[in-house]
Amino acid sequence: MTTDLIVTLDGPSGTGKSTVSRLLARRLAIPYLDTGAFYRAATLAALAAGADLSDAEDVGRIVAEAEFSQRGDRMILNGEDVSETIRSAEVTLHVSEVSAHPSVRALLVGHQRAWLDANGRQAVVEGRDIGSVVFPNASHKIYLDARPEVRAARRADQVGDKDTTEVLADIQRRDHLDSTRAASPLTIPDDAIVLDTSDLDIDQVVDRIVALVADS
Ligand code: C5P
Repeated sequence: MTTDLIVTLDGPSGTGKSTVSRLLARRLAIPYLDTGAFYRAATLAALAAGADLSDAEDVGRIVAEAEFSQRGDRMILNGEDVSETIRSAEVTLHVSEVSAHPSVRALLVGHQRAWLDANGRQAVVEGRDIGSVVFPNASHKIYLDARPEVRAARRADQVGDKDTTEVLADIQRRDHLDSTRAASPLTIPDDAIVLDTSDLDIDQVVDRIVALVADS
């Protein structure tokens, strides 16, 4: 029998969360789950169905009928690889509205927990509510943060956008929605270790987390 090894990485976008999670999973030789991709895929499904995104019942029904799976870093929705489409500006614009519906969250959290069971309960899992709600008993909880302007510059770089002012405004809009929603808001879990990545490069962040995991 293996012991659970669940490393949760929560925090807002632009903190290096996705890159750090991938590299960390590789260093620890365990799989990786990107829960944001589930919320993005749910948003894509709702948009494709022409749903009124403010209608919790309608959106909940669409998400309940959809099939989600994640294989490696590919996100599959209803049998189709949507890994690129879910990063579109349209999905990014609407994802916080869709992810605020408790019915959507309950369904996707169920998929995320099932994924962990199917993967031997050893994984790096990134998101917004992982240490607080999805896996509150995780062995290692990390919360990544960074100064807003640093996060905007990183996001702009990632999406190839030159206008960091606009990217910063979008980040602040999503931060606000994600941290003020009633259901599972973005929050620092009580027992999380907070790491500010503003002045660290990716390898330094990964090294620190590997050391934390090795130490306990
Ligand atoms: O991490 P990423 O930027 O892809 O997440 C997209 C959106 O999905 C977030 O802005 C948030 O609204 C939602 N999300 C969430 N809970 C998670 C992961 C993501 O609500 N665990």
